[in-house]
Amino acid sequence: MRRIAKTILVAGVLAGLTLQPVYGAGQFPGAAGTETGRREATRVIRVGDGDGSGGSGGQEASSSQGASQDGNGSQRAGDITDAVAWADQAAQTVADALDQAVMDPAFQEAMAQAAAAEAEALAAANAAAQAAAAGAIRELDPTKPMIALTYDDGPQSSVGNRIMDVMNLYGGKCTFFMVGERVPSHAAEVQRMVNEGFEVANHTQDHKYLNRLGAAEIRSQVEACNNTIQSVCGVRPTLMRLPGGNKNATVLANVGMPVILWNVDTLDWKTRNAQSTISSVLGKVKDGDIILMHELYSATADATERLVPALVSQGFQLVTVSELAHYKGIPLNAGQIYNRIP
Ligand code: ZN
Repeated sequence: MRRIAKTILVAGVLAGLTLQPVYGAGQFPGAAGTETGRREATRVIRVGDGDGSGGSGGQEASSSQGASQDGNGSQRAGDITDAVAWADQAAQTVADALDQAVMDPAFQEAMAQAAAAEAEALAAANAAAQAAAAGAIRELDPTKPMIALTYDDGPQSSVGNRIMDVMNLYGGKCTFFMVGERVPSHAAEVQRMVNEGFEVANHTQDHKYLNRLGAAEIRSQVEACNNTIQSVCGVRPTLMRLPGGNKNATVLANVGMPVILWNVDTLDWKTRNAQSTISSVLGKVKDGDIILMHELYSATADATERLVPALVSQGFQLVTVSELAHYKGIPLNAGQIYNRIP
């Protein structure tokens, strides 16, 4: 359940309990609101508290001589039975109150409204993103720090769509370095990236380590990926990232695109732990950093959903790599390596 709905659930349950006191006076064993009733209630509580020693129900024993003629034992047994019955009834009343709070039409309506409002906010954010995506480079504040979150090895719709949702909610963008052969089976997601102003980028066609290939194969891996992405979403990538970051002179001479690496490695692929990914970024990143994550893992989506609001609240603008280069005034050249910008 989402956060807002959860808050309302808790509030609703509390309200239900408040509006429906577990015990009205009339529900106590004994007469409602009378002196006898109150004394009776006190007596039952004492016995119910489990003091088993003979003389203790004390006050009660001495003030009810008549009853004690039958023997303290049988009276106490009866009191304990009463107390147990009362406890059962109390438990049932609490359970009923909870059931009623959850089943209350007003409560359910509030839940539905909260869910609808949340969906509406997300739809509006996504629509705004789409409207703003016409120019790939957004208008940003060049005086405020910028960092580029980047996601490799996708597309992977189950993760990428969550990343885009939270980015849109907080006005951020990021770059997806994608493996060409995966693109056709996640076509709608890749089209969404373009529609909403995210950067689509090249991570080779088959995730080959290019330092193990000859010149022709290197070119083929890069070109095939660009062709695939362009055929699915209409945009040809302008940036590439080397699988494993593996490079040599042949790679750099033949890759034909700027090579974007990173300077903050979250190791999300290794830990698959959201908190670990978050800890590797928060409090450590600075203006111009490029952060490496991977689109394949739900833990990375979890981390992103917490990182994005935190980074934005710290004053960072979350930008694509192309936006970062644009605002820092750094030209991106084919065959050149960039770990951060500048
Ligand atoms: Zn990779």
